[in-house]
Amino acid sequence: MAKLCFKYGTMGSGKSIDLMRTAYNYEEKGYQVLVMKPKIDTKGNDCLDSRIGMQRLVDILIDDNTDIIKEIKSRFTSNLRCVFVDEAQLLSNDKIDELYLASKVLDIPIICYGIRTNFKMEGFTGSTRLLEIAENIEEIKTLCVCGNTARYAARKLNGKYTLDGPDIIIDGAQKDVSYVALCGDCYLQKVKKIDYKNY
Ligand SMILES: [Zn+2]
Repeated sequence: MAKLCFKYGTMGSGKSIDLMRTAYNYEEKGYQVLVMKPKIDTKGNDCLDSRIGMQRLVDILIDDNTDIIKEIKSRFTSNLRCVFVDEAQLLSNDKIDELYLASKVLDIPIICYGIRTNFKMEGFTGSTRLLEIAENIEEIKTLCVCGNTARYAARKLNGKYTLDGPDIIIDGAQKDVSYVALCGDCYLQKVKKIDYKNY
């Protein structure tokens, strides 16, 4: 039976690039793939955007009313080999459960990409559900400014670290808000202002 997979990493870890590269590998060999993302992710409109300028059209935009199995079925060909979901952290529990079911009903591997925690170090709904039920889980790593592995997203408001504001502000949607990938040490010191070495 095909599996539901979750590849997680913080911002700038190259999740969209990994998705586009893997999708391209299939297509280069003549196979069909489908790409989905949550409608709420307005970055790039109906395209996937990567930080290095690569772009790709999204086949299915998911909102709470989307019947995922029906949508995949309506685009299904015998050449379909894989379904990709970007920004999966923004999906609800129900939609993640639907993706799990879809991988079994249609016997197609589904690879979800997402950020594990928000800027407050709290799990995103979709990612938390994926960590519970995905059959394959893989971390995509990136570097902190200090050279350690960055695993956490920190929010900056007008250039200063903040723990305030709504849980979700889509990257790029507000000019005064930006995100930085930090390691645990830097997150505690810079964002939580905890001098853990002298605790
Ligand atoms: Zn660091």
